[in-house]
Amino acid sequence: MTTMTELQVVGSPTGTRSCRFCGSRLERTFIDLGMSPLCETYPSAEDLNHGEVYYPLHVYICDNCWLVQLEEYESAERIFSEYPYFASYSDSWLSHCQKYCSEMQSRLGLGRESFVAEVASNDGYLLQYFVREGIPVLGIEPAANVAKAAIEKGVPTLVRFFGAQVAKELTFDGRAADLVIGNNVLAQVPNLNDFVDGLQIMLKPEGVLTLEFPHLLRLIELNEFDTIYHEHFSYFSLISITRILEAHGLRIFEVEELKSHGGSLRVFACRAESQTHPASCSVQRVMGYEVKAKLDRLDGYESFAGQVKQTKLELLEFLLAAARQGKKVAGYGAPGKSATLLHYCGINRDLIEYTVDRSLFKQGRYLPGTRIPIYHPDRIRETKPDYIVVLPWNLKDEIMRQLSYIREWGGRFVVPIPSVAAF
Ligand SMILES: [Zn+2]
Repeated sequence: MTTMTELQVVGSPTGTRSCRFCGSRLERTFIDLGMSPLCETYPSAEDLNHGEVYYPLHVYICDNCWLVQLEEYESAERIFSEYPYFASYSDSWLSHCQKYCSEMQSRLGLGRESFVAEVASNDGYLLQYFVREGIPVLGIEPAANVAKAAIEKGVPTLVRFFGAQVAKELTFDGRAADLVIGNNVLAQVPNLNDFVDGLQIMLKPEGVLTLEFPHLLRLIELNEFDTIYHEHFSYFSLISITRILEAHGLRIFEVEELKSHGGSLRVFACRAESQTHPASCSVQRVMGYEVKAKLDRLDGYESFAGQVKQTKLELLEFLLAAARQGKKVAGYGAPGKSATLLHYCGINRDLIEYTVDRSLFKQGRYLPGTRIPIYHPDRIRETKPDYIVVLPWNLKDEIMRQLSYIREWGGRFVVPIPSVAAF
């Protein structure tokens, strides 16, 4: 287990801000979203008489390497050791994963002799599809409660924080991988250089690394400011990730644009010296979009704060008008990102009475900070709200299909991002 001491020596010295990748001083603000509690700590009824700790959500841009980043206000160990996010709850995410596994299986010719490793493997949501094909796998997951769920479904899982040390131990045991997967984990890594070093160490000489992460270009274009929260320390463009991987001996040879999480990138990388993975034109294409959006200079980052403020004003105007008209407003979902949205906009129970979530873990608990109660989805049928604010807006199509019955009483959906819209 990584110790607290090891985690604390990482990053900037006290009192100074330096880039977690290149070490340059951080002096430029990307956006300051004010104060917010940790977004994945859902208070229970017993916690209601206690306070919650709020941390600044102040995001900086490094003007040397263009990595957009938050400081580590709370140790990763504290945040992720009992992480309540069980990836398997979303149907559309599972079908995305199943498709990825069958594509990679045929593309890399994976079979019983191969080895696939996934860092931050959660509850085995993805590796289960390789297991079904008889392909040997190992998940590496720091949250013990989540790893237990993976092991129960037959996905071998190591309960550790991943980094260079874990990678060295595994490769020493002959467990270098044909495919190393990191889905939506890179943003959550405080010690980025050690982590990427570990990814490189895990790869066989001709192995392939795939990383998925929300695309900073989309975050800016589509105004996805609520995907900024304390659990996400870094926000990547293809420009910044290319520099980071190159610094660790890795070369990106292909990139795919995905719809997941409001617009993500999946990059394919190999060892810099590999001869078997020629560069695809997709890399130049996406790089071209980013240069056009000026993400290779400060200009591309400067208008974001203004557009976010505009969204706040519009959402508040909508909810205030609904409140004045005596409309009943509920939420759907209790995703981590709702904490940022609600705190930045100043929305409490007086504007959104309750929310519902399919996760048994979250039902009966409260959203952090705002203390909006989280119920079973049946509550919607029972109380017939006029508006349902879709908090995980990235799943809005799936949610609006599942809840189409609200039309029976004239209910409507409200999607807050990129700008407030009622359906
Ligand atoms: Zn930097």
